[in-house]
Amino acid sequence: MTAGLYAARSRMNALLLEQMGFGGQLLTYEKVDNYPGFPEGVGAFGLAELVSAQALKFGLKTRNAEVVGLDLGGAIKKIILADGELQARTIIIASGASPNKLGVKGEAELTGRGVSYCAVCDAPFYRGQEVAVVGGGDTAIEEALYLTKFASRVHVIHRRDQLRATPVIQEKAFQNDKISFILSKTVADIKGGQAGVEGLTLCGVKDSQLSVLPVTGVFVFVGIRPNSAFVPAEVNRDRPGFLITDQEMATSVPGVFAAGDVRSKLLRQIVTAVGDGATAAFNAFRYIEDHF
Ligand SMILES: Cc1cc2nc3c(=O)[nH]c(=O)nc-3n(C[C@H](O)[C@H](O)[C@H](O)COP(=O)(O)OP(=O)(O)OC[C@H]3O[C@@H](n4cnc5c(N)ncnc54)[C@H](O)[C@@H]3O)c2cc1C
Repeated sequence: MTAGLYAARSRMNALLLEQMGFGGQLLTYEKVDNYPGFPEGVGAFGLAELVSAQALKFGLKTRNAEVVGLDLGGAIKKIILADGELQARTIIIASGASPNKLGVKGEAELTGRGVSYCAVCDAPFYRGQEVAVVGGGDTAIEEALYLTKFASRVHVIHRRDQLRATPVIQEKAFQNDKISFILSKTVADIKGGQAGVEGLTLCGVKDSQLSVLPVTGVFVFVGIRPNSAFVPAEVNRDRPGFLITDQEMATSVPGVFAAGDVRSKLLRQIVTAVGDGATAAFNAFRYIEDHF
């Protein structure tokens, strides 16, 4: 949305294609504490709405559509949609990332019936119940804290013997007596039936001992993978599939830029996605000036 805002403001004929809702991952959590300019924090949904309103004010055009492929062969590039094709002089890929799956038995079958990847979406269903959070990074611990508003107990399961979340977030979790920590264990499978999740089988990392944890909800936060399946192989990417750019957001294909979480980079946050988006739009503008 920031790339779109900058592109529209520089009077490019810019179209933003979005398959779901404007805001991306911001629509899946409650509050943003670390975006500059909001000392009391800001609602994630509200921040997305503000950026969207600002981009629309500058004349950004939008269309609700899924991009299924790109044809980057010529000077004019083709964007393939499920129901047609568009042409553009330059493309900024800002398709973000999606949560990783655990890949264990029961996960796929019970998704939406106790297995979730979004606490803000699903936490209210678990009022007064015991739930598990799988993961030990910032997202997992922040989501565990959010879940304590609803659940009677939140078990954080992490495969290492220490959390990876930043100290300030860890401290909040250690002070919350609704959260308990199960360290050095992985989830071997998720048990349940028609009525939903009934529990987890855990496996000790050091001793391979199996144990059962009765919970009715499992929230999985074990990293993310790039939404780059629709991007052709000529755009270079790293091993997990994140798109490689230079520091001006240019990919290996001239006229194709990438910004935000889909990009190979160190820190995937709103503040860096916003910076990438602005740089990508500025560079796209320069590319059109130089080539058309
Ligand atoms: C639970 C959680 C908590 C977080 N907390 C924070 C926080 O407190 N502070 C912070 O700074 N960051 C936080 N983040 C990270 C932050 O949300 C991301 O870094 C940021 O949203 C990245 O923005 P993006 O635009 O690159 O990607 P995304 O937000 O992933 O947006 C990409 C968009 O592209 C669309 N899209 C994907 N593929 C296609 C396609 N083929 N066709 C059309 N549209 C497509 C998607 O629908 C999506 O709307 C959190 C993330 C999560 C999951």
